[in-house]
Amino acid sequence: MNSKEYKISLVSLGCAKNQVDSEIMLGILKDSGYIMTDDMNEADVIIVNTCGFIESAKQEAIDALLEAASHKKTGVCRGVIAAGCLAQRYYNEIRAELPEVDAVLGINGYAEISKAVESCLNGRRYDFNRITGDMTYLDMPRVIASEKGSAYIKISEGCDNRCSYCAIPYIRGRFRSRPMEEITAEAKRLALAGVGEIVLIAQDTSRYGKDIYSKPCLAELLHELNGIDGIKWIRVMYLYPDEIAEELINAMNDCDKVVPYVDLPLQHINARILSDMNRRGTPDEIRSVIRSFREKMKSCVIRTSLIVGFPGETDGEFAELEEFVRETRFDRLGVFEYSPEEGTPAFRMRGKVRASVKKERYDSIMRIQQDISLENNRKRVGKIYDVLVEGVSDDGIFYYGRSYAEGPDNIDGRIYFTAEEPVETGSFVKVKILIAEEYDLTGCQISV
Ligand code: SF4
Repeated sequence: MNSKEYKISLVSLGCAKNQVDSEIMLGILKDSGYIMTDDMNEADVIIVNTCGFIESAKQEAIDALLEAASHKKTGVCRGVIAAGCLAQRYYNEIRAELPEVDAVLGINGYAEISKAVESCLNGRRYDFNRITGDMTYLDMPRVIASEKGSAYIKISEGCDNRCSYCAIPYIRGRFRSRPMEEITAEAKRLALAGVGEIVLIAQDTSRYGKDIYSKPCLAELLHELNGIDGIKWIRVMYLYPDEIAEELINAMNDCDKVVPYVDLPLQHINARILSDMNRRGTPDEIRSVIRSFREKMKSCVIRTSLIVGFPGETDGEFAELEEFVRETRFDRLGVFEYSPEEGTPAFRMRGKVRASVKKERYDSIMRIQQDISLENNRKRVGKIYDVLVEGVSDDGIFYYGRSYAEGPDNIDGRIYFTAEEPVETGSFVKVKILIAEEYDLTGCQISV
């Protein structure tokens, strides 16, 4: 049998950065002639691109690997490949405790995927877990799995920030930027393929270029990308607050394709906790960055993520965080309960917060934000938005999509709408908002 007759299934877990890596593995395999299938029962090889970020993600990855392995008994599957963060971080443990896994590819092993698949098909094991820092695989062919019309572009890899709770730097290595010309070439290829929205991602996008151009160059990159025909929206995710200079805010404001959407994971606002988290920037500086965005970028949407239950978080420090959420009125907000990660400095910190208290704090922030979110959404009723169409609701009644104010990862909610004539997934339409709920909005397409 040649590769054309073999079917491959891939399960992508974790974040958008992992999704890009999955899309590249699919692209390489497709180019090698393999057939992709969503049905694990008919897959000759099953790949699980794992996440190892927090405890729940690790468990999800292990469950997915075991489920994939069960198809070796019930289906035609001949091999299971563990790729990605968990595979990198727990290589020895996987090899010792999961004999069902036939190949292990760490985060620098994506380009090896064809060799790993071939080995599985021939009944051999295959491992690649060296940290090489290689990023050339990012220029390899990709099968875009995200909704039609939108694609992520990874602008750097790794992280140098060393937040005390985060294992990413130990998994993904030092911060490395991709050369600007490679990113613009990728954006041009995507535009030619019909992608209207590009979403720039990295562990820390605001640091882009600091390693290879000696200074942060995200502003310059945005100007370059803004000139590409066919791209309608440029969205920037994961900005680190202390790297945001006026030049960057001005560039986000001046480049007409850059949507006024600011993703600013802040984690906390209490000075002692920020310091123990090894986060740069004081509470005053954080507030000042938010003010600058709101003053300079009209209608800007600000999204953040927070951690509750960090070691030593007192009732008073948590109350400070609650007050910050009330006063700032974020447009979008995600909360995580602190998860102790082996090998990180926070893992050894004293003052562990009880699970029940973490949960209460999580619920409390979510309750505060729900009211804010509903009030914010109600202000959008009657307004008209450009919406990128992503699909049709399960009941077939509504189309759904996103405006500039909703990110692509389904965290920010959706805009549901009716249309007189059929509309195409991946196209942009105008929608008037009629109904607001806490997360989703509903409206109707209008012609202007
Ligand atoms: S910025 Fe901090 S939280 Fe984000 S990936 Fe880097 S170390 Fe982890």
